[in-house]
Amino acid sequence: MPFDPIESYANSRHEFGEHGGVNMSIEASTTFTVMEAELMPEIFQGRLGPGDQKTGGGGCYLYSRHFNPTVYTLGRAIAAIEGTEAGYCTASGMAAIATTLMQICHPGDEIVSAAAVYGGTFALLKEYLPAKCTINTRFVDITDLDAVKAAVNERTKVIYCETLSNPTLAIADIPALAEIAHEAGAMLVVDNTFSPLIVSPAQHGADVVVHSITKFLGGASDIIAGAVCASNDFISSLMDLHMGSVMLLGPTMDPQTAFQLSLRLPHLGLRMAEHSRRAQFMAERLAEHGVKVDYPGLPGFGHRATFDRIRNDGFGAGGLLTLDVGSSETASELMTLLQNEYRFGYMAVSLGYFDTLMSCSASSTSSELDDDDLRRAGIAPGLVRMSIGYTGSVEQRWEQLESALRDVGVIT
Ligand code: PLP
Repeated sequence: MPFDPIESYANSRHEFGEHGGVNMSIEASTTFTVMEAELMPEIFQGRLGPGDQKTGGGGCYLYSRHFNPTVYTLGRAIAAIEGTEAGYCTASGMAAIATTLMQICHPGDEIVSAAAVYGGTFALLKEYLPAKCTINTRFVDITDLDAVKAAVNERTKVIYCETLSNPTLAIADIPALAEIAHEAGAMLVVDNTFSPLIVSPAQHGADVVVHSITKFLGGASDIIAGAVCASNDFISSLMDLHMGSVMLLGPTMDPQTAFQLSLRLPHLGLRMAEHSRRAQFMAERLAEHGVKVDYPGLPGFGHRATFDRIRNDGFGAGGLLTLDVGSSETASELMTLLQNEYRFGYMAVSLGYFDTLMSCSASSTSSELDDDDLRRAGIAPGLVRMSIGYTGSVEQRWEQLESALRDVGVIT
């Protein structure tokens, strides 16, 4: 039976509120009462824990930077969506990425990463980790498996990629990358922010799946949050008293936030399918007009075969598309018209919102990359990334987009 993320999530929904409520309770305590003094050292050393953690229970929660029940419940729900044993939620997507990489790597270790990744991740890998921790990264075209193999050596501890790269939408061949990583004794870490439900990286061999919940999982552009999904051992290691990067660097999610986010997951599937339906519609129309459009659901999409091999059925090809309008000037003109004249969407970074968000990647979310990095990552100066929302009717939205493209001379 193929993995079904919706069923897996539904099966995980056995949490009741404190008084039997249909929603989980918010556990707002930072600290928890230990009933017998002799249990304290056992709990503190991680030998006894609550419920179904690695320790097998017998103790209780200790302190909320470590494990908070509400945050832990949300983490388990996201882990169920990804089909991993465990998960934990962080204060941002960057916190999820940084703590994961800090947990796995030590000074002198290396990472092999896709050249096209979110700009913040790129800066973390290219500048911060080498300068602060002497953890260096080799950037490669992640779709070129020979280049990935050539970059891996005995110091490599992580192969890092995004399922669909930000912003180029290149698809990572996760099963092949997992094989390369595991042969080298390294771990495959995949950022699945662009494609929750659409692809389940852990089912194809990824060891850790990270998310910026800020995007599709949150869905309303109102909360910055992240998640790490992995094995019980890995999630427990993040909480280690001596060497756990969540425990010691402290990027934990607040339980009130975890509760709010828990109410968004039941309709994630409906939202993803609708984002995809509308993005598919727009991409097809744009392609008919001869616009340079990239979208994983188009027959001519460069990485279509890989995508078809790893995608789950029922959620379409995602909410993101890119169009190359030739220059950053035309991109600015187009987005200004679309926002201020036609009210098609917002000129804003980020994605996964219910309205359409658009940005020119080279001058916004990828501005950490210099000209050479941008060329290597395949990010053209006139590339506009659109996260297609689901407000308004699709026909109305298409008319707005078509009119603006005509106004700026991209179509006739
Ligand atoms: N991963 C991807 C693919 C992103 O696009 C972003 C932000 O845009 C992040 C991670 C960082 O997430 P956050 O802003 O929640 O820290």
